Amino acid sequence: MPEDWFLEKHTPYAGLSLAVSARLHDQHSDFQHIEVLDTPEYGRVLLLDGCVMLTDRDEHVYHEMIVHPALLLHPRPRRVLIIGGGDGGSVREALRHTELERIVLVEIDEAVIDTARRYFPALTAGLDDPRVAVHCEDGFTYLDAHRGQYDLIVVDSIDPVGEAAKLFTSAFYEKVRDGLRKGGCAVFQTESPFYSTEVLAQVQERMRTLFRHVAPYLAHIPTYPSGLWSFTFASDAIDPLNTALQREPAFLAELKYLTPELLRAAFVLPAYLRRRLGG
Ligand code: SAM
Repeated sequence: MPEDWFLEKHTPYAGLSLAVSARLHDQHSDFQHIEVLDTPEYGRVLLLDGCVMLTDRDEHVYHEMIVHPALLLHPRPRRVLIIGGGDGGSVREALRHTELERIVLVEIDEAVIDTARRYFPALTAGLDDPRVAVHCEDGFTYLDAHRGQYDLIVVDSIDPVGEAAKLFTSAFYEKVRDGLRKGGCAVFQTESPFYSTEVLAQVQERMRTLFRHVAPYLAHIPTYPSGLWSFTFASDAIDPLNTALQREPAFLAELKYLTPELLRAAFVLPAYLRRRLGG
């Protein structure tokens, strides 16, 4: 029996425990507690404030699902903004879209980027691509000076706590809407639909007052709370439930989770969510 175990509580009575083979990094930055573990079951793991952000074994699900659906539904994406995402995974996936001209990453905590560069080089390799610009600042204020500039805005944030709490407010959603170019869309990570159904419901209600089309979609991420995670697509121009894929690039065959069929299925919600979220 391994000696060392990591435990993340998802509720007062349930959580995730992982056997730990090595504790590689432990740092308190200006914003949060950053740790890196090696585990026999999920490989290398990044923790922020004691919560799993990503693991070698299932990070691809999160990153494929937060980036590709919107880019495949948008008729002509050229400029992408990623808020949060300092681990580099969303940038890596966006770079697969060769038609993109500019990918801007706005991460509030430089220590997350440095840690990811050191322990997850495959994730961060894209940060040095000439199409990529990295800014270490607050995404909430960054948008004030960047109106109408992006075809896609991805909000790859942590849970609605600390500096990220404001990224779940109507004020922020309005800034995101105004940051989009005509025909643009946005995608947000919106928590566990099972353990945080009310957070997801509040997000839908707030976004529906600002965007014409708002639709949550789901993915299976084993190390995230409840193993089921949600993302929310928002746009005034693109209705994801009634829009065909605009292209099927060759790299789709390389992806480990997303397929064109799964993209469709991901927007189909279980009964309890349909009832609670309406729409
Ligand atoms: N996949 C993870 C999840 O769903 O929990 C998110 C990963 S990513 C590492 C989240 C990043 O958002 C963190 O590095 C954090 O520093 C950053 N972040 C939090 N609040 C922010 C803000 N206001 N502006 C920009 N980045 C922010």
